Amino acid sequence: MTEQTFSRELASELATANRILVHHGVLDAFGHVSVRDALNSDHFLLARNMAPGLVTVDDIMAYDLDGNWLDASGRPSYLERFIHASIYKMYPSAKAVVHSHSPSIIPFGVTEVVFKPASHMASFLGAGAPIFEIRETGGPATDMLITDNKLGAALARTLADCPVTLMRGHGNTVVGDSLPEAVFRAVYTEVNARIVAQALVIGQGRVNFLNTAEAERITAANKTQIGRAWAVWKRDVEESR
Ligand SMILES: [Zn+2]
Repeated sequence: MTEQTFSRELASELATANRILVHHGVLDAFGHVSVRDALNSDHFLLARNMAPGLVTVDDIMAYDLDGNWLDASGRPSYLERFIHASIYKMYPSAKAVVHSHSPSIIPFGVTEVVFKPASHMASFLGAGAPIFEIRETGGPATDMLITDNKLGAALARTLADCPVTLMRGHGNTVVGDSLPEAVFRAVYTEVNARIVAQALVIGQGRVNFLNTAEAERITAANKTQIGRAWAVWKRDVEESR
């Protein structure tokens, strides 16, 4: 068993990310957020198995890229930690991952409705969000959960170079270049789903999404503004404690 060496500051940021995502309705009693360990890129940090809204810095544990936890306490881990492990293993650029069951996104994973950015704040969805079909790897009778590295790798492959994958009948997984970016993207993926659903009704099925060039340009601009969202969202959850 490896001694845990991650920084308490990063663990504290991850605990904050948990509370922000609960505050915005992305996580509820379920789902999780992780961050690659800044001190060891072969490790990532994730809370022990618990409701995200209750996570504190002392609940954070380190894992290796096979999903093994590096903690001698015997505390239980999330069943779906393989989502995180597989993405960090396949994509060295991935620095943070959010897996949620945020409800407004579910309809887009179980229909053929296109999920693209209807708002500039979700421009990172410009290339779309591929749908992960667990039946292709796990067969017709899984419990829908990503509970091993085989399913995790299949999910990571589906992501390709997109920041979001929809998981049919389950939820979604979001990747970021930083913890604030993954949180930002998870929040605005949920917001975009609500906007698209409304636009489909108002527009009787016709929606004028951002085009590729628009999405690329505003994504570059938004990247410089993520710190602003993080600062106020962090303040919000700290004041509510
Ligand atoms: Zn899940």
